[in-house]
Amino acid sequence: MSYIDNIRKVVPYTPGEQPKVEGEIIKLNTNEFPYPPSAMVEKALESLDIDTLRLYPNVTAAPLARAIAKYYGFEEDEVFVGVGSDDVLANSFLTFFASDVPILFPDITYSFYDVWADLYKIPYVRVPLKDDFTVDVNDYKVKNGGIVIANPNAPTGIALPLESIEEIVKANPDVIVIVDEAYVDFGGESALPLVRKYENLLVVQTFSKSRAAAGMRIGFAVGNKTLIKYLSDVKFSINSYTMNQMALAAGVAAIEDKEYFKETVTRVINTRNWANKQLVKLGFNVLPSSTNFVFASHKDVPARDIFEYLKTKNIFVRYFNKDRIDNYLRITIGTKEQMEKLVKVLEEYLK
Ligand SMILES: *Cc1c(COP(=O)(O)O)cnc(C)c1O
Repeated sequence: MSYIDNIRKVVPYTPGEQPKVEGEIIKLNTNEFPYPPSAMVEKALESLDIDTLRLYPNVTAAPLARAIAKYYGFEEDEVFVGVGSDDVLANSFLTFFASDVPILFPDITYSFYDVWADLYKIPYVRVPLKDDFTVDVNDYKVKNGGIVIANPNAPTGIALPLESIEEIVKANPDVIVIVDEAYVDFGGESALPLVRKYENLLVVQTFSKSRAAAGMRIGFAVGNKTLIKYLSDVKFSINSYTMNQMALAAGVAAIEDKEYFKETVTRVINTRNWANKQLVKLGFNVLPSSTNFVFASHKDVPARDIFEYLKTKNIFVRYFNKDRIDNYLRITIGTKEQMEKLVKVLEEYLK
């Protein structure tokens, strides 16, 4: 017996590499947005009164919750704000998955879900996706303690139609269904319009991908007032002041600049569609993407070899050495110039 035996041991989530190499790199490995935040964000940060940093921030992130609620047509108390959606999701797992019956999520999905489930000792079952990596809705009509679905899914990029999400939510009135919509702005159908229709639905989104603010750490959940109250109670049992003054100011500005958001997201979507075609020409099978990344497998060359080669060219993409997906690359959509460079390097390597 030693003190080691009394320590909680966890296997943590492994985020994408933040490369530390000399010279110019093309970073397409963590699904960050390729364009800077809105100019209004810069302005908001510049005009932030430094004296406010002396004070604790708004404990419910009210200015930001209000701005998000207004944008999506909800009330402030139907919105919960957290330090990135990872924080929102972790708190949601702890709050809503308190059953002894296993929760359900796909076998191929955001790899943080099983980490949180293990951490909080939540029993879970990883439900295999179909061979084409789509969700079979019927798999989620069995007894369970809760459901979490990333829609569009990661790392596959495949979106589930809203009718299917509704079918799952409707079939599970006794548990909470969390829909993780980190990528929804790039082509998915949001379940937000279902929030007022189903009390057991919680929709989670983030500013990290489509709102160009991964470094600011802002995520949010929308659900009925009762769910948001329970979620807030758990948050207030861990850390009251999660959202700092800068994140609050930047977040409000980011959500208010609708024009910039629409324009830059459209640019990413157009680049994705272009890159998709180029990759197909190069012999890749590319899954249909509704996100700011593509998931692709080459017909002749192993994904790991391509991954390693790209690294030598200072191009970083994501490779998962995992069952069923170990011959795929997840490639974030960068600027058009970055994607042209990628295609050129791949052309030389594969010819
Ligand atoms: C990126 C991502 C998140 C979390 O991102 P945050 O930066 O913590 O907001 C959550 N879910 C999925 C599926 C993601 O890809």
